[in-house]
Amino acid sequence: MNPSTVALCTDTEELTYTELAGRVEHTAARLRELGVSHGTRVAYLGPNSIDTWVCFFATARAGGIFVSLNIRLAAPEIGYMLADSGSHLLVHGPECAELAAAAEPVEHGVARVVPAADLRPSGPPGAAAGSPYAIVEGEPVELDDPVLILYTSGTTGRPKGAVLTHGNLTWNTVNQLAHVDVLSTDVALCVAPLFHVTGLGQVSMPTLLKGGTVVVVPKFDAGAFLALIARRRATGFSAVPTMLQMMCEHPDWVSADLSSLRYVIYGGSPIAAQVAQAWLDRGVVVQQGYGMTEASPGVFMALPDGAASRPVSAGVPHFFTDVRLDAEGEPVVGAGRGELLVRGPHVFAGYWGRPEETAQVVEDGWYRSGDVVRIEDDGWAYVVDRVKDMIISGGENIYPAEVEMAIAELSDVTAAAVVAVPDATWGEVGCAYVVLRTGADLDEIALRAHLEQRLARYKIPRYVELCDELPRNATGKVLRSVLRERALLDHP
Ligand code: AMP
Ligand code: MG
Repeated sequence: MNPSTVALCTDTEELTYTELAGRVEHTAARLRELGVSHGTRVAYLGPNSIDTWVCFFATARAGGIFVSLNIRLAAPEIGYMLADSGSHLLVHGPECAELAAAAEPVEHGVARVVPAADLRPSGPPGAAAGSPYAIVEGEPVELDDPVLILYTSGTTGRPKGAVLTHGNLTWNTVNQLAHVDVLSTDVALCVAPLFHVTGLGQVSMPTLLKGGTVVVVPKFDAGAFLALIARRRATGFSAVPTMLQMMCEHPDWVSADLSSLRYVIYGGSPIAAQVAQAWLDRGVVVQQGYGMTEASPGVFMALPDGAASRPVSAGVPHFFTDVRLDAEGEPVVGAGRGELLVRGPHVFAGYWGRPEETAQVVEDGWYRSGDVVRIEDDGWAYVVDRVKDMIISGGENIYPAEVEMAIAELSDVTAAAVVAVPDATWGEVGCAYVVLRTGADLDEIALRAHLEQRLARYKIPRYVELCDELPRNATGKVLRSVLRERALLDHP
């Protein structure tokens, strides 16, 4: 890359590749002083910023593992993740100082809470200018070494840290570049949060590898983002369908200057056909990506050539990715439909400290996705269903078990089940069916107040229905399909 090209910028700050290298070296040195060495977990809590990127690269440089935490989580959820990952530091952006303190990291064995600003060099950015050719000193880092932990929940309701290695991220970047023609002159907008692997791995890392410019966007706002595309002459970005929808429903949509865009990648949940069409009508081919944290994330991606005629297809597998469909234990040969399994050098190294839970989803290198995929004769894939109990709301995943456990903590509750209801803006929202013990005086307001203490706001069900019992099968298992149908009627 050209050392004097701007690597990362925001509205108020920009760093060339040379300056970025300097900042990373400085921060890595600070982290080493604070006790970070090979394998040390460094948690980070903050909206997308240049500090987030610098701290990520510096942690990697020092041989550590970056634990990127969702800023929308409630304090007890963050406390749990700090303890589970055994994080040595919690670095936070200024916006998250209170949340970082409230997570009681000391109680969870975390040595230290560090404002991100404390890791910056004093003086102007040039002051710490390094060389993009700097040779790494200290312990060498191998491709199989972990570099990132991202928490995802699951069927047990207990969040687990997906461990991604340097190699995982590298292979994902190579895979992305084989699908998207990123250029060294590109200006990418980094709007997907950096606590999700899409924020790091889709568009932004490929752009940095090519030596282009990444504009770091701390918070999504449809009108401001449309203006930013024009002002920066942005060439591409990656987003969730809800963002694309909010933009095409915004009053500025018709007049927005989108002429600089060469590609838009979206994924994380299905898209409504009319949203993809609205972008196509503006001359922008939107390419669907499908993947998951455990695959760093890319598995399928639509190709620019063909996406327009298949607007809701997830596309074709990445180059260094093997996929397989499984229909009730039998492999599907050729086109067909089944649960998707994924294998490749970008598939994660397992859940942090949880070999049994890793073994439940990975067998002989194949990761079992819990998603039902249909592959057509032309090789293009469609994500058609989920076998796992998961709700995706505005791109954030909600695991019913986690919400149900939080509801069941209330002594007035004897049973609870949370299912998805379709929603025009968020894709899906949660609906909780809650059974109270006889004589209980718990009401919805008290229930919500309890959940707000325990869970991120986006996980709190939009609808709460108090009921006498839950539909169950002969063995007592809750019949979620029956509840989903009931929820459709209750909340059309
Ligand atoms: P995450 O680990 O947060 O990336 O969530 C991964 C899950 O999101 C996948 O297993 C799918 O269930 C869902 N997902 C991701 N991309 C898509 C897509 N393009 N269409 C439908 N569902 C998707
Ligand atoms: Mg997701």
